[in-house]
Amino acid sequence: MQAQGAVALRKGEELLLNEMYVSVQGESSLVGLPTVFVRLYACNLRCRWCDSMYAVEGGEFTKVHVDDVVRQIRELSGSSSDGGGIRNICWTGGEPLLQGESIAAAIRRLPDTFVHSFETDGEVDLRAFDALASDERDSGRLRYVMDVKCPGSGMKAEKAYANLGILREQDEVKFVLQNRDDYEFAKRVLASYGTKAQTVLFSPVVAAHTVSTGLDSARLAEWILEDRLPVRLQLQLHKLIWPGRERRI
Ligand code: SF4
Repeated sequence: MQAQGAVALRKGEELLLNEMYVSVQGESSLVGLPTVFVRLYACNLRCRWCDSMYAVEGGEFTKVHVDDVVRQIRELSGSSSDGGGIRNICWTGGEPLLQGESIAAAIRRLPDTFVHSFETDGEVDLRAFDALASDERDSGRLRYVMDVKCPGSGMKAEKAYANLGILREQDEVKFVLQNRDDYEFAKRVLASYGTKAQTVLFSPVVAAHTVSTGLDSARLAEWILEDRLPVRLQLQLHKLIWPGRERRI
């Protein structure tokens, strides 16, 4: 591990990596599918309820060459020429798209049988990565799962509104909700901004080390049903399978 300030990164060639591991996907419409997670280091935001702060600040990262990440993805996936192995790769963080050039380089070196999802915080302009991986985006193999930050996060959604107009059908929008105010905010955003994304996720904040109380998922379900909202209630599957485990490895 090394100090963040000492790192000069070669864009397109290196990545700041926090961890890589295999688990079941806990979120999005790919929930339950075995997935290779690539967690990249550093984030442009500081959400109050962040459950992966170890990938946001501190010294828990290594600088790795894109080729090494590609090799590790191949090994972890167990992919084989006969079509076996894990097919889903999740780029997460931190904010992965801060390292878009190197991610695009890695994707180009991997088989086109992989489906890549990006857990992005909404506050990075998606046009930059769309331009870096335009063919792959057109193929539908690359999908964003994009947060719109609600007030309870302590962050302010700004770029997310323009990004909603960039999303495509295969992409997903996620609101992490701490209270009724966040829920009303999410409803207003959906009513005010158009998006082609077909999946909208409402996910309750879970009590964790940074927040003492979360949002009761039964209450959130009732609100959604009362309002007849065409959104998907999302509970984080990995936290149900492995309660109390802070990290999915
Ligand atoms: S955007 Fe995600 S990784 Fe960054 S601080 Fe917020 S919750 Fe944590």
